[in-house]
Amino acid sequence: MTGQDAQDARLESLRANLARVRERIAQAALAAGRPADSVTLVAVTKNWPAADIGRLSQLGVRDVGENRDQEAAAKYDQCRDLPLTWHFIGQLQRNKAASVARYADVVQSIDRSPLVAALQRAALRVGRVLGVCLQVDLEDGTGAGRGGVPGAGLMDLAVQVADQPNLRLLGLMAVAPLGVAPQPAFARLAELSGQLVERFPGATVISAGMSSDLGPAIAAGATHVRIGTALMGTRAAQVT
Ligand SMILES: *Cc1c(COP(=O)(O)O)cnc(C)c1O
Repeated sequence: MTGQDAQDARLESLRANLARVRERIAQAALAAGRPADSVTLVAVTKNWPAADIGRLSQLGVRDVGENRDQEAAAKYDQCRDLPLTWHFIGQLQRNKAASVARYADVVQSIDRSPLVAALQRAALRVGRVLGVCLQVDLEDGTGAGRGGVPGAGLMDLAVQVADQPNLRLLGLMAVAPLGVAPQPAFARLAELSGQLVERFPGATVISAGMSSDLGPAIAAGATHVRIGTALMGTRAAQVT
């Protein structure tokens, strides 16, 4: 294939994948008695080039998710003029807060108090207000280090975020435990979300569901699904 052919083929494959993912979201929402537009698709573009973010934008995607600061920052610099909301969904280190605050609109993975303070300082310095989701550990500390605050610590962390002038508490994020049915974990997340919203009525985001479990996540009330593989493919077929 020529370079142009490869680029056209990549666009068409993303278009087809996107249509399939949107259909799955619509079906799951319908089954749950919810409108399809009550679920925001966050395209997880980690490991794929900035050119793919351009293609997704061209296809109508408005939210992208990245999990590594260095990679995200570089791609943001190439895509900054596109009408995109940037979600940081990876484990965040305190010394990366300043970098993330420059390009992220939403940080979905806040799970401990020192990060709150670091992100507030960083957001203040660049004069931005960042959306924040608290990442919840649905295995309450027994999991294999997928990150997240245990349920018992959630409300204290939420109060801390809500107190920061440059952070806006949006809701919760979680990754379902590996190797077991996700429904009980998503039910627990929905229960925690209910408790959070009672105290913070604006914090309604539930970011849950990935390529393999978006249906059960939407059934349990997910407002945001984070989809990588089903959209982007499985091998890093880099077409730039
Ligand atoms: C990679 C990643 C996703 C996307 O996972 P897929 O199974 O590829 O859809 C979602 N959330 C987080 C936190 C991720 O790191």
